[in-house]
Amino acid sequence: MIQPIIDPIAIEKVQRLINGVKSIAITCHLSPDGDAIGSSMALCHVLRRLGKDAIVVTPDMMPRTLLFLPDVKSVVSFTQAEARARKAIETAQLIFCLDFNSPRRIDKLAPMVMSNPCPKVLIDHHIDPEMELDVMISFPDASSTCELVYRMLMQMQLWRLVDRWAAQCLLTGMMTDTGNFSYNCEDPDLYEMQASLMRRKVSRQWLYNMAMNTYSADSLRLQGYAIDQKMRLYPQQHVALIVLTAEELKRYNYKRGDTEGLVNKPLAIPGVNWCVFLREDPDYIKVSCRSVGDFAVNTICANYFNGGGHVNAAGGEFYGTVDQAIDAFEHLLDEMASAAGKDNDNTNDNQI
Ligand code: 5GP
Ligand code: MN
Repeated sequence: MIQPIIDPIAIEKVQRLINGVKSIAITCHLSPDGDAIGSSMALCHVLRRLGKDAIVVTPDMMPRTLLFLPDVKSVVSFTQAEARARKAIETAQLIFCLDFNSPRRIDKLAPMVMSNPCPKVLIDHHIDPEMELDVMISFPDASSTCELVYRMLMQMQLWRLVDRWAAQCLLTGMMTDTGNFSYNCEDPDLYEMQASLMRRKVSRQWLYNMAMNTYSADSLRLQGYAIDQKMRLYPQQHVALIVLTAEELKRYNYKRGDTEGLVNKPLAIPGVNWCVFLREDPDYIKVSCRSVGDFAVNTICANYFNGGGHVNAAGGEFYGTVDQAIDAFEHLLDEMASAAGKDNDNTNDNQI
């Protein structure tokens, strides 16, 4: 049986807030991923089935890889439809903040969300939330926000409203945030949830292929190039670095989402405990970090790259040139080496 881990007082409070309003906005983080979009859309769908005017508003566009999800056209992104996004947030009587822990993560939506005096509910699995909302459903150990939305709906006895569409969205986030149940996946409850979602006639095989195993030829070639030509290994520090410049991205007709999953690949090499991927985006160098074991990449992203995230999956932004970003990375290796003396080992002792 799935354990009810969310405080019943929080559950009751959310229930009361929902019952008392008509218009509800749901928002999630910048560059939304499968978990951000999946949890937002699932909750939105259930709220609509409850008779609410619910809407998902994102700070920017979702990647093409998620366009297969049901009803994605109803999502309003601020960068695409500024006036509609603004109106939805400003007129909402209740706002759900999903899959982020700091107003910075919703970019230009932050002032609108924060200045709307309506009640707000956080549902998230990042550590140390930097905002205190009316209800805080914050579980850093949860696999995904989709897991938390599932648990909340179950505890609110709204599970009956989770239909095939909502189930597809929830399973998408649980799948993408755990690398198809290959990390953050040790909680047996997850598999009970997965089974009940599949009983809503969601094809797991289809979903995996759509959400995690669909690449354009260009993107596959770009990933091959990145691994073959651009992966640097630092055996002493058990780390891999991949850097892609704007020119290289252009060469492969890069579109948002094309490098999804790339940063995880070097972790397959015995002896590589963490990986950093630097991508030269138009406004900054996007930093993505992944690790295995208890090597915390969120603190690295927070300390060096204006970011944060989870222990094993984090990201940030670097303002400067690609070369400066590489220098910052190598400087951080030096600092780690001097801080730890010669002992830089963590869980994976194999040499690269
Ligand atoms: P990704 O590398 O896939 O962009 O992000 C991995 C995780 O790191 C995300 O789920 C999110 O939790 C976190 N993350 C990514 N970029 C940022 C950022 O710029 N700031 C913060 N605080 N977290 C980020
Ligand atoms: Mn998430």
